[in-house]
Amino acid sequence: MRRLRRDRSGDIALRAALDHIGIAVGDLGKALAFYRDALGLHVEAPEEVASQRVRAHFIPMGPSALELLEPTEPASTIAKFVETRGAGIHHVTLRVEDIAAALEQLKTRGVRLIDEAPRPGAEGALVAFIHPSAAHGVLVELKQKPEPRDLAPVRVPFGDLELVSVNDGALALDGGAMFGTVPRVLWQRRLDADDRHRVPLSMRPLVVRGDWGTLLVDCGAGDKMDGKLADIYGLRSTGRLEDVLAQVGLSVDRIDTVLATHLHFDHFGGATRREPSGAVVPRFPRAEYVVRGAEWEDATRPHERNRASYVQEDFVPLRAAGVVSFHEDDRQIRPGVRVVRSGGHTGQHQVVFIESGGRTAVFTADMIPTTAHVDDPWLMGYDLFPMDTLAFKRRFIREAIDREYLIFFEHDPRIAAGYIRERDGRRFVEPVR
Ligand SMILES: [Zn+2]
Repeated sequence: MRRLRRDRSGDIALRAALDHIGIAVGDLGKALAFYRDALGLHVEAPEEVASQRVRAHFIPMGPSALELLEPTEPASTIAKFVETRGAGIHHVTLRVEDIAAALEQLKTRGVRLIDEAPRPGAEGALVAFIHPSAAHGVLVELKQKPEPRDLAPVRVPFGDLELVSVNDGALALDGGAMFGTVPRVLWQRRLDADDRHRVPLSMRPLVVRGDWGTLLVDCGAGDKMDGKLADIYGLRSTGRLEDVLAQVGLSVDRIDTVLATHLHFDHFGGATRREPSGAVVPRFPRAEYVVRGAEWEDATRPHERNRASYVQEDFVPLRAAGVVSFHEDDRQIRPGVRVVRSGGHTGQHQVVFIESGGRTAVFTADMIPTTAHVDDPWLMGYDLFPMDTLAFKRRFIREAIDREYLIFFEHDPRIAAGYIRERDGRRFVEPVR
């Protein structure tokens, strides 16, 4: 938790910023005729807030937004609001960094609250309402954005297997590169950039445990990269895999297979570690490292376009240590675990299908790096062969929706895994917790 500045009076400076203004709407058609058509504002696809019996239509306006609130049932508080007071401003939402501290401070000052403690709001945010009598007749909502990077492991029992998404830490990459041809005005609502134009990402390898052993898919960036490059890529608290594995009763020497989706540093940098002597050695001492042979060929013969992504000391020392096993085709790696070449991101990029108890989970790596990438044309600028990514992804996501595949998102800052759903032509991810 970040520490908040204290001002001279000793109070915590809340540094509240306007998040959005909620407008209760009686007739959505007429509201759209004004806000969308007459004012020419962009209205996003609606979000269903079932618990409030309301449909929210967001209108982004820079760092803030308007929110048109359309009641879906007569019993909705918004319907009652419109009935008694007419359509109009319903609430003002202020973003704060630390909502618990904000509520403490307001309580100390005798401000009347509706919520004494923060409660979960939409999209993982924490929210609390201040009583309108304390705010000169305005219903004020405080909101704390979700922690961008949750380092807790996410365990999913899966038939005969156990799947554990483990977080190696944070990565921040240029937003434009992460979203390719998608304009920033569209992507920044899904993943907002920092003051250096980078979006927050995680690196989440996946542990697959079966009665046959323990396999790790990808292994984060590790901690060999330092100085300027680590700063450029926002590599913070990386190399934490040891700690995170310990939280689920594992350690590096319990991993017997390390499987690579591809050999980029943010996926396979963690395969090796540097000893105090300077020697680079396998980080998982008992593991067999499984790599697609043609990916190894590409990685060890890089060109101008991919050289920055392939750091030779991440993988070359593995061969010297005699711990790599190569495979050339799509194949089963361990019972229930098979790889399928997707190409696209790199020529030999592969995704991992995990099947057990009649269910399918897929580790999609850089084919669908985050939940913000579930629309077919939202491709990364990094992809060497974007049309190959598109062709594979279009087919794959259709299948994933229809067959309810559980998807693991390797780079998502917030959501480790979930199901891709589609409603009214709009795609979203239902997370598993
Ligand atoms: Zn990546």
